[in-house]
Amino acid sequence: METMSEEMKFEAEVSQLLQLMIHSLYSNPEIFLRELISNSSDACDKLRFEAVSDASLLESDSDLSIQVGFDTEAGTITVSDNGIGMSREEVVQNIGTIAKSGTKQFLESLTGDQKTDSALIGQFGVGFYSAFVIADKVDLQTRRAGANADEAVLWSSDGTGGYSLDSVSQEKRGTTVTLHVKDEHKNYVDHWQLHSIVKKYSDHVTFPIMMLEQLPPPPEPEEGEEPEAPKEPQLQQVNAASALWTRSKSDISDEDYQSFYKQVCNDYEDPIAWSHNRVEGNYEYTSLLYLPKRAPFDLYESMTPKNGIKLFVQRVFIMDEAEKLMPRYLRFVRGLVDSNDLPLNVSREILQDNKIIASIRRGSTKKVLGMLNDLAEKKPEEYKDFWTQFGNCLKEAPGEDPGNKEEVAKLYRFDTTHTSSEGELTGLDDYLARMQTGQDKIYYITADSYSAASNSPHLEIFRDKGIEVLLMHDRVDEWMMNYFNEYDGKSFVSIAKGDLDLDGVGMASDDSEKKAEKEKQAAEAEPLIKRIKAVLEEDTSDVRASTRLTSSPACVVMGEHDMALHMQQLLKQAGHEMPETKPVLEVNPTHPILGLLDREQDEDKFANWSRLLLDQAMLAEGGQLADGAGFVKRMNEMFMAMQD
Ligand code: ADP
Repeated sequence: METMSEEMKFEAEVSQLLQLMIHSLYSNPEIFLRELISNSSDACDKLRFEAVSDASLLESDSDLSIQVGFDTEAGTITVSDNGIGMSREEVVQNIGTIAKSGTKQFLESLTGDQKTDSALIGQFGVGFYSAFVIADKVDLQTRRAGANADEAVLWSSDGTGGYSLDSVSQEKRGTTVTLHVKDEHKNYVDHWQLHSIVKKYSDHVTFPIMMLEQLPPPPEPEEGEEPEAPKEPQLQQVNAASALWTRSKSDISDEDYQSFYKQVCNDYEDPIAWSHNRVEGNYEYTSLLYLPKRAPFDLYESMTPKNGIKLFVQRVFIMDEAEKLMPRYLRFVRGLVDSNDLPLNVSREILQDNKIIASIRRGSTKKVLGMLNDLAEKKPEEYKDFWTQFGNCLKEAPGEDPGNKEEVAKLYRFDTTHTSSEGELTGLDDYLARMQTGQDKIYYITADSYSAASNSPHLEIFRDKGIEVLLMHDRVDEWMMNYFNEYDGKSFVSIAKGDLDLDGVGMASDDSEKKAEKEKQAAEAEPLIKRIKAVLEEDTSDVRASTRLTSSPACVVMGEHDMALHMQQLLKQAGHEMPETKPVLEVNPTHPILGLLDREQDEDKFANWSRLLLDQAMLAEGGQLADGAGFVKRMNEMFMAMQD
């Protein structure tokens, strides 16, 4: 093959990233080692996986390991592995460009706080470049498994604007990264420094991490004796490298579980809870599942969340993010599953419809729901934090996993009229416990914000009767309620839709009197309602006297199966065709504005008043006026008319 030497430029983003990284990690430079070891460990995982179908890749060297070395004289540190290695194209692709879509978000999410920023680097996977925090020159020499010795390549860069690539020869497959350490960081070029950083960050890496033993200097030779031949230092393993999940629970401390999580699941914070299970039913497997503290930035956008469940088969790592092991609505769960029954050469396609996977998934789902239930019961405050981070994921459950609907619904938390401010949150079981006499339904309202929900005129009659209403104001709520009709045998009713029948519900002492009174008022208002209806014929499907209102003049009500106005709005804005749904306008005959309207003789003014009544009811509902300018014009006319 022809040898090639070329100079290449970094993508603009790489340069930008390097500068930021050097700056933000300045006070925590030691994480470079964790990042390089993690890359080496991934490379060994990949080789082991590819070798399942092509054993020749192992090239009679099947003991995969990582080696950390240093050279005090040259001022260098090296991290090498006999993993999969890279071809020339792969080096250009992986090291010279940032192909990942997360990079931009990464740059934007840097906070300037070093501890947080350095942890972000792990989360976003731009680890290799952290080498430039301590080095002013980095060489990476690599040969891909299965390639010829002369197909190796040497990448070299000072991290400023570009890199060089040279063809070199390398007998053994794998990758060696050499860091030419900056003067101010020369203290890292030291056996015990490196040793302690490996223990601190990489103890749970499943491949052995080796270092040459540190030998005491040879004794001074006695007079007239030959000096002793120096001993050859031996390679020694530094990390524990045990598969933690294979040990028995009683041998594992909370600290072990936490440090395993941080190293293996790539998080900088402790998890809130975990569940470690050995299952021996039809299928044998071990699972170690963690609930993280914080949602990743792309939890609600990304189709394949990063850092999901890792799949192992008989302790051999098979793949990251085996999304078939968890339903989508639990995609925030991290950890691993180690199966004894799956074949080693399992591929994503095989996972697609596999009995074993389906059974593991069912079992793991139950475990996670159990873990959440436990948290909700025993540590309600921590559960609330969890809900704030991940609640919207759980709301996808009724659509995705009808079988566990009730179980998941137990975990839901909503704002409610029972409390006075946003974020106090209640569960459905608590709602049920507070139901009024005669109440057999769960009432809720959807809106696009807490204040829109809690100020909605629809709540008036409920407040009056002391009936609690759930205030749902997340976008997914309206969608979720399509799949979620009842809980514990009680059906859900949107208070902004359809007819409302609250007879005999709530504070009912004077109900029959009140009812008769209302009916009388409604009958008296009939002529007025007819007049309004004639004006609003085109824009409403009906106008009627309201049973919901006590203090507002009017409100709009959607049909039982119609979508809420604020949702229609949202979908329209996103470019969806929406079928025309005309609302019902309900008016409150006892309200002084209606009295005013009734006395209005001028038919033009009457029409203006009627339109304004509909407009403001639409606005209160989070709807948008088809003719905003017309609304303003009408309102101004009416103001002016007040002078007359
Ligand atoms: P990440 O590891 O998060 O993907 P990095 O910037 O650390 O991001 O590495 C970029 C890519 O370079 C890796 O995804 C991998 O393909 C390749 N790479 C890095 N180090 C090694 C290595 N030691 N052996 C093989 N490939 C490597």
